[in-house]
Amino acid sequence: MSILGGGIFKGMGVTLRNFVGSYFRKERLTTNDYSWRPENKLPQSIGDYPKEEGEQLSDTTTVNHYSRNFPMLLHDTGEPMDTIRCVACRICERECPPQCIYIEKSTEKKEDADGKPQFYPAKFDIDVSVCMSCQICVEVCPFDAIVMNSQFELSTPDRFGGLLVRRDDLLKSNDYYHKIHPQEAASRDQKMADEKAAKEAKKKAAAEKVKAAAEAKAAAAEAANESKKDTE
Ligand code: SF4
Ligand code: SF4
Repeated sequence: MSILGGGIFKGMGVTLRNFVGSYFRKERLTTNDYSWRPENKLPQSIGDYPKEEGEQLSDTTTVNHYSRNFPMLLHDTGEPMDTIRCVACRICERECPPQCIYIEKSTEKKEDADGKPQFYPAKFDIDVSVCMSCQICVEVCPFDAIVMNSQFELSTPDRFGGLLVRRDDLLKSNDYYHKIHPQEAASRDQKMADEKAAKEAKKKAAAEKVKAAAEAKAAAAEAANESKKDTE
């Protein structure tokens, strides 16, 4: 049976245990949550934490395929700015509930990964001290350009500038996306491939329709010429 307020006493007990224990074991001076470590073991040395970014992300005990933290911008294979998917349409900026996205659209276009001229974000900042990880920016993006990252260790002593994540730091490759969210990334790739195929099929059908109409017009003109010759 749980006692009302029991959790508070339990939490205070942990604090007291760490406070007293810190006089005997220096690792108890840190207040990080190590409870996910095997058998709740504390790290053997300070160097055990924080983990390297790659190690954090491959740690399935803390970061599963569905975890999300803050958004990141996707680019396809190649140089990040040569293959960035974002076209600076600013839909996410408008829809973000706490208004923590800031975008400046480029004044000129450059070729995207498919060689199509597109605008791009000259600036794209996200204030992660304000972001509430709602994922609305991801839902509204028509270009599959923004998705949620799983990186959770973003602590910094710089409360303002350090929590304003800039475009070049937000840019991550689609391969990285596959690494952290394999199922979601695979289904997004499939959706994009289906949409591309449907668009190409529609374009082909429209071109065939125009060609058929031109042929019909030419045939009609020829028939009209023939009948004119017959009457002369
Ligand atoms: S996750 Fe939500 S709060 Fe954060 S940038 Fe996207 S829309 Fe804004
Ligand atoms: S991330 Fe998507 S919605 Fe936001 S500006 Fe770029 S293309 Fe538009």
